[in-house]
Amino acid sequence: MLIAWLKPCLLLWSRYVSRVEPIKKVSVVIPVYNEQESLPALLERTTAACKQLTQAYEIILVDDGSSDNSADMLTAAAEQPGSCVIAVLLNRNYGQHSAIMAGFNQVSGDLVITLDADLQNPPEEIPRLVEQAALGFDVVATVRNNRQDSAFRRWPSRLINLAVQRSTGVAMTDYGFMLRAYRPTIVDAMLACRERSTFIPILANGFARHTTEILVHHAEREHGESKYSAMRLISLMFDLLTCMTYNMHLAIIYVFDIFFNLSNYYVRGILYGKGNDSECKHET
Ligand code: UDP
Ligand code: MG
Repeated sequence: MLIAWLKPCLLLWSRYVSRVEPIKKVSVVIPVYNEQESLPALLERTTAACKQLTQAYEIILVDDGSSDNSADMLTAAAEQPGSCVIAVLLNRNYGQHSAIMAGFNQVSGDLVITLDADLQNPPEEIPRLVEQAALGFDVVATVRNNRQDSAFRRWPSRLINLAVQRSTGVAMTDYGFMLRAYRPTIVDAMLACRERSTFIPILANGFARHTTEILVHHAEREHGESKYSAMRLISLMFDLLTCMTYNMHLAIIYVFDIFFNLSNYYVRGILYGKGNDSECKHET
């Protein structure tokens, strides 16, 4: 309890010693891929949450090459008189993290918040993220307080967290939840990375100085299905690993090398085995 209070207090104190940039404008970045059913509630709830802020705000929705009506709905929302919505339309589907990066390119706020379009990340938590960032944190992450995954899901996730912690030096509980806040310095650093594939929460931690985590609610997806098939999840895992350090790259190459050699021996074993069999048969 004491430690939980100590961190914000120290940061609050350091705010007066070393200047913390004030938050005058908040930019919310949301990637959208075939989410037409979720969009009306998303726009309504996100706007309502932003209106509670004392700061100005903008809501940047990035259509990631949707084939449903999402792009048209975003354009209509952006064209409403006095709208704070900015629609960014990508020509094709690039993937969630690339879509967020495209949104980062458009932000003009002093704090950037990311969340998903399917309302699994409650937009109502936006004011709490802003509050935490104002204490001087440059990354505010979230932890799902009602996560009920099986041990089969939790253990790989713990291993990944451990690897990320060793790689970035920053310990965090939950890398899978995109409801997060970043200071522009972190966003600019991420944009300066010319990686084609990336996993934003881990990349951000590599540049962060003061980070914190808050507990938030995790909702079920109400409309449509997850956009991640098994193949896309595997591809995301690669992005997650390759956005870590050079050492991590080497470790992956090493693992692949072992895997390749083992499979090579196995295949050669089968071939030689067959060859010997056929020679034996031939001789008999
Ligand atoms: N998304 C995207 N491009 C993609 C896949 C997903 O922009 O290629 C968006 C999607 O619309 C949602 C967010 O990324 O806003 C998270 O996707 P999803 O809910 O399917 O992921 P899950 O919650 O299953 O991890
Ligand atoms: Mg989701």
